[in-house]
Amino acid sequence: MEETHRILVLSSGKQDCINLCSALTQTDIPIEISEVSPETMTWQNTTYDCIFLLDHQLSITNTFDTINKLLLAITNTPIIVILNEDREQDATQIIDSGATECITHSECCPQNLAKILRLCIQLSNAGKSVAKTTQTLRRSRELLEYQSRELSAQKQLIQLQHLKLLEVSQLKSQFLATISHELRTPMNAVIGFTQIFLRPKFHQLTLQQKDILERILSNGNHLLMLLNQLIELCGVENGDITLKSEIFDLSQLIKTTNAQIHSLADEKHLSIVIHNRLENHIVFNDIEKLKQVFRNLLLNAIKFTESGHIWVEIEELPANKLAITVRDTGIGIATGDIEHIFERFWQVYRGNKRRYAGTGLGLAIAHSLVQIMCGNITVSSHLGEGSAFRVEIPRQISSPISQQVKDVSSTQVAHSCRKLFYICSILL
Ligand code: ADP
Repeated sequence: MEETHRILVLSSGKQDCINLCSALTQTDIPIEISEVSPETMTWQNTTYDCIFLLDHQLSITNTFDTINKLLLAITNTPIIVILNEDREQDATQIIDSGATECITHSECCPQNLAKILRLCIQLSNAGKSVAKTTQTLRRSRELLEYQSRELSAQKQLIQLQHLKLLEVSQLKSQFLATISHELRTPMNAVIGFTQIFLRPKFHQLTLQQKDILERILSNGNHLLMLLNQLIELCGVENGDITLKSEIFDLSQLIKTTNAQIHSLADEKHLSIVIHNRLENHIVFNDIEKLKQVFRNLLLNAIKFTESGHIWVEIEELPANKLAITVRDTGIGIATGDIEHIFERFWQVYRGNKRRYAGTGLGLAIAHSLVQIMCGNITVSSHLGEGSAFRVEIPRQISSPISQQVKDVSSTQVAHSCRKLFYICSILL
């Protein structure tokens, strides 16, 4: 059933009003008519589907005034002005002032009014739906503005927390670096003096004493390695690492490093095969840092392989890059662990599963060093089938890489300790 439409008739002339209302009720549209005189109208915001304004006794100025008030008080409602025949010439001006349509009294037959009413109802519905959409849009905009304000407040909070975290992290790194340095000096002394006591000229050592000293030496070396890695890591985190680039033979570096740790592979009956596919062996890089990266990878391959082989492949890549791959037939790494493998202190076998010695820092340091060299380190591995760590670096790094240098004490401390032990050993 069609809904009843609300019609407002504004008229000062009683008879005209009666005529119009009677014509309106003869249309087949269900309507409810409210009749008011413009002089007594309260102009409160009420909803109508159509307004008829009879300007029978109104002057043109009064008509404009009434239209204005209607537009302000009752928005989105079509206004039909009914003019006397002698005022037809005012129609254009009246429409310009905001009325929807102007007709004359003689045109107010039920058929015409029905057509006009239908159009007005359509217009009114369209207006209502536009108003509704506008309101929804306004609400959404307000919500968006609120959310955007909330977001920017949260962003500021996160930035603040990030700055605080950065500060804490720097403090932690500085603390670790200082403590490690402080520990490394006495540790070097412990190692040095133990080595002196283990020399053959101290025949008076019993087997038990010798065993104890050897344990002190082995644990001391282990602790020293841990301290060195911690210092290295702090340096990387603080951006205190600089690359000291020089020209050297990469094949030679691989050969020497392999020779230095080959005995560890021999102990486990592992073969290390080097496939050197380089045509040009010369690189311009930091020899010590590259050696450290390769050494970490090779030591891991030996540590995590119980039987089988280790292959080292060196090859040239396009764009003047080089790749060093260390492949093993060891225990392999599960897919879930691979994504964490370059994180600091991450070890697959940690806690009560711990089976292998180590700090969980070697790969994190290697990763950072390779990144400083503008290179890339990746791993591919399958549990129980072995792993392959691949380092890709530019043949020539830009020198010097812009990082701050603070790396003073590590070599200096080691040097002074060595000197001290040398003097002690002569004296003893
Ligand atoms: P660490 O060897 O001192 O524990 P790393 O940072 O060098 O520390 O390595 C982190 C972890 O990654 C190791 O504890 C081990 O679980 C895993 N991993 C590294 N290299 C290998 C490898 N070649 N085969 C299997 N697991 C490896």
